[in-house]
Amino acid sequence: MRSCFDEIYSRLAAGIEPELEGWWVEGGSKVENDIFEWSRDHRVHHKYSETDADPHNARRGFFFSHIGWLFVRKHRDVIEKGRKLDVTDLLADPVVRFQRKYYKISVVLMCFVVPTLVPWCFWGESLWISYFLASILRYTISLNVTWLVNSAAHMYGNRPYDKYISPRQNPLVTLGAIGEGFHNYHHTFPFDYSASEFGLNFNPTTWFIDFMCWLGLATDRKRATKSMIEARKARTGDGSA
Ligand SMILES: [Zn+2]
Ligand SMILES: [Zn+2]
Repeated sequence: MRSCFDEIYSRLAAGIEPELEGWWVEGGSKVENDIFEWSRDHRVHHKYSETDADPHNARRGFFFSHIGWLFVRKHRDVIEKGRKLDVTDLLADPVVRFQRKYYKISVVLMCFVVPTLVPWCFWGESLWISYFLASILRYTISLNVTWLVNSAAHMYGNRPYDKYISPRQNPLVTLGAIGEGFHNYHHTFPFDYSASEFGLNFNPTTWFIDFMCWLGLATDRKRATKSMIEARKARTGDGSA
């Protein structure tokens, strides 16, 4: 679910219905802060990328941008700039408020209790194996893959859309983070719900949102147009694609 939780930044703007946001509530299964805090930090990340106001500033190195930023207090610029951002749209959303209010209990349930109980309950797995594999191992792997978007995808890869920014296209991160590795594109066109020029290709997050649209639970998917993309590539791209 990370991708859905992650891209709430651009995708909240896409007219997602509360029922669909309910899926995002399950971002609790990843313990990545509640929707409100995550989205505010992510907006700061986009607006002040690679500066001290970026919560996981990749200029401070791979370790810091991957996991180190979670071990230290936020830089005062992150707090200051975060305060100045307009987050009224987030606070106006009842699902965001609900998830923030019950965040801790949803984490305990969705990250630890439910993943442990499902294999035990439905196919007789032992509780210890369920706990260590379905909860702890799943959690560890998905967190690290998620963090690669902030670390590896800000350091390694090509920049076909904007060579003047650090975020890059990283196919390995795309595979691991189910469509999140088109990061040069995502930072160049942050409003694009697909977070990639290629739509459905290697992008299960896009499949998911399209499916939700088909069900009527999401509307108004925003995309960058082909001419917009080509013009930007010609103007600021590194010529690699
Ligand atoms: Zn983003
Ligand atoms: Zn980024």
